[in-house]
Amino acid sequence: MTSSTLMAIPGLIDPVPTPRPAVTSDITPRSDGRIDLLGLPRPRIAELLAEAGLDAKAAKLRAKQLFHWLYHRGVIDFDAMTDIAKTMRPWLAERFAIGRPEIVLAQVSEDATRKWLLRTGDDHEYEMVFIPDADRGTLCVSSQVGCTLNCRFCHTGTMRLVRNLTPGEIVGQVMLARDALGEWPKGVMADLDEEEDEGSYSADGRLLTNIVMMGMGEPLYNFDNVRDALKLVMDGDGLALSKRRITLSTSGVVPMMARCGEEIGVNLAVSLHAVSKEVRDEIVPINRKFGLEELLQACADYPGASNARRITFEYVMLKDKNDSDEDARTLVRLLKQYRLPAKVNLIPFNPWPGATYECSTPERIRAFSEIVFASGISAPIRTPRGRDIDAACGQLKTAAQKMSRAELDRLAEEKQMALG
Ligand code: SAH
Ligand code: SF4
Repeated sequence: MTSSTLMAIPGLIDPVPTPRPAVTSDITPRSDGRIDLLGLPRPRIAELLAEAGLDAKAAKLRAKQLFHWLYHRGVIDFDAMTDIAKTMRPWLAERFAIGRPEIVLAQVSEDATRKWLLRTGDDHEYEMVFIPDADRGTLCVSSQVGCTLNCRFCHTGTMRLVRNLTPGEIVGQVMLARDALGEWPKGVMADLDEEEDEGSYSADGRLLTNIVMMGMGEPLYNFDNVRDALKLVMDGDGLALSKRRITLSTSGVVPMMARCGEEIGVNLAVSLHAVSKEVRDEIVPINRKFGLEELLQACADYPGASNARRITFEYVMLKDKNDSDEDARTLVRLLKQYRLPAKVNLIPFNPWPGATYECSTPERIRAFSEIVFASGISAPIRTPRGRDIDAACGQLKTAAQKMSRAELDRLAEEKQMALG
């Protein structure tokens, strides 16, 4: 069984005065008393089946079948599980459920970016974003409701941490996106086992091809649950997405970075954003706890990083704060000093109500980018996506906080009607 306790949060960085309701179970809470299997690995499903009365051998076999139906096929109804005896299906349905995050609101941007406002079984809201591009589709997944850190330029940072998301709520976002995009394989399992080769079930030809842990929250402060969810995403008999197509972004939780490489093995992105202690202390306050040198050393030691799998350094462009030629040169010097297989992503600052920063001018961003490129390090400028629906980097803050319950209920009704 996996543990999903909250990790200690550095007290000096962001004291959270109100007690946080901890979800200390790996099981996603639901109100009807049934156990939600979504988010659980095979041995845990087997354990629960055994507790419900199956003998160990049957529990193991059923767990394997359930796992396939849950994660590979996206089935939510036990009745659709054709290789499980008809008489057994109601027995399962009485005790267990296969949940999905509830959709409160689905929005589409003028640039086709989609954002979903989701609700947990115990009534907390969080968001996920889908960004379609010509050659890929990226799902931006949340790891927490809110964030304990408070990077000064980030809207999510102005929220309290409400709680960590469970593995089911994290993998549930990917499942929901596949539901919405209609991307589950069809047909019966026996046929698929024979016909489905690696190639026909790869990311090719799919809309959802990549995952970034860049939604709400700091994934490395919810390490166990993020790892357990991503293992289901990467499992060949699960969602079967390659680890090379998954990127985890951290603001710099240095003590967890090695474990991230060893136990998850996904690509790493680091929210660097500044090259001096003074500026980074101000805009990414976790820097006061884990400083630049420590962070860059942890990047140099990141398991699996190589020239073929470079670490992404995210750098938000803030006018007159971190955007000078000198900053660009220092950035290059640091990346070289630590011999980092690096690429830099320059993110134009996305504004939100009450933000105290401005975005650098396009000319400034270009000049910055050119200096980094000239040193041989790739430094593309990200095109902001979904700004009109507040879906761009750093704009996520559950709109629900600003809406009344009656308004939300009305929206939910409209959504139900639209879905038919
Ligand atoms: N908590 C993690 C992942 C989520 S944020 C992290 O901080 O890395 C995803 C990226 O968006 C981070 O690089 C974050 O610093 C950046 N970001 C936050 N607010 C932003 C804003 N207003 N404009 C542009 N990028 C922003
Ligand atoms: Fe949290 Fe990341 Fe926003 Fe910082 S940038 S407040 S770590 S979500």
